[in-house]
Amino acid sequence: MTPRESYLDWNATAPLRSEAAQAIAAILAEPGNPSSVHRRGRAARQTVEAARRAVAALVDAAPDWVVFTSGGTEANHLALRAADRPRVLVSSIEHSSILEAAPTAQRIPVDRDGVVSVDALDRLLAADPRPALVSVMLANNESGVVQPVADLAAVAHRHGALVHCDAVQAAGKLPVSVAALGVDLLSLSAHKLGGPTGIGALIVHDAVELRPWLRGGGQEHGRRAGTENVAGIAGFGAAAGVAGETGIYDRVRRLRDALETEIAGTVPEAVVFATGVARLPNTTAVALPGVSAETQVIALDLAGVMVSAGAACSSGKVQPSHVLTAMGAGPDLARSTIRVSLGWSTTEAEIAHFLDAWTALYRRHRARRVAPRAA
Ligand code: PLP
Repeated sequence: MTPRESYLDWNATAPLRSEAAQAIAAILAEPGNPSSVHRRGRAARQTVEAARRAVAALVDAAPDWVVFTSGGTEANHLALRAADRPRVLVSSIEHSSILEAAPTAQRIPVDRDGVVSVDALDRLLAADPRPALVSVMLANNESGVVQPVADLAAVAHRHGALVHCDAVQAAGKLPVSVAALGVDLLSLSAHKLGGPTGIGALIVHDAVELRPWLRGGGQEHGRRAGTENVAGIAGFGAAAGVAGETGIYDRVRRLRDALETEIAGTVPEAVVFATGVARLPNTTAVALPGVSAETQVIALDLAGVMVSAGAACSSGKVQPSHVLTAMGAGPDLARSTIRVSLGWSTTEAEIAHFLDAWTALYRRHRARRVAPRAA
């Protein structure tokens, strides 16, 4: 049976895990400030520290390295601004929270598959000896392409640079190890992995001296002041505890691959991006040439299917995505690309629902092209 609604926009935000909802409800019922010395304060402190251990375990880091923030955006800003390096290099496909936090940063190019070039980073770092910070995401939010972060970090460290990695989209979908990646700073966001919105973390290796950005009450060992968002932190910890079981994404990958096979069979003009390189198991970026992403998203929404446009809408005009543009896609192709992203509870029926609605749109488009209306 066709579902009434099919949510295929998990890279935008994932549903709250029941474990997270329970943890949040428990804190909201009995709130406390972790800085208070009485029993409620001590209970809140215990909750925060248990969540810190769970978040650290998710990314193979030490609990002391976890600095809770208001989300991925703040974690990215904290990494870029607080690392205090005169020179910053970021990949050309970073999330806007990196690109806009470091507008003067040098851009490291990607190839046509959307993979950041290790050689280009090496050349850029060799050209200028000033101390640098390099920021490259682990997996791209639009294309799903997984970046060679361990190789990039090794090159960057050879040049004495610090390395930050935005792992917001990767965590919970792939095993993530700060130690194996060899990065100094790593950003996380709870709502992408089954926790609530408004909470995230920056993982700061103990060898890194972080210049605090928010100052005041000395929370988070002086690295991020402000009374802790205990309910959010509890939800993040509970979600992180479950998100380590990335094996559930094997099923998601099979569903996603079946979706792409079906697309190739029924819509020959469709272009699926980056199929030849390592990608997140849940993401498909697909263009329907000649049909704007906006039209596709609206038509799908009318049919009850929720996906994202692979393009940002600003001042009422759809701009081609900077990610697809950096991969060499022309503006027309980039403007006709949507992102379909799956998650742990996505069903075959939801994929069929998408395919029905999308291929119906394709057939309408093809019919109009074959028989243009008389003027
Ligand atoms: N980094 C990436 C790669 C993202 O996809 C997002 C959110 O879409 C963010 C950072 C921002 O995270 P948050 O929504 O928690 O601020």
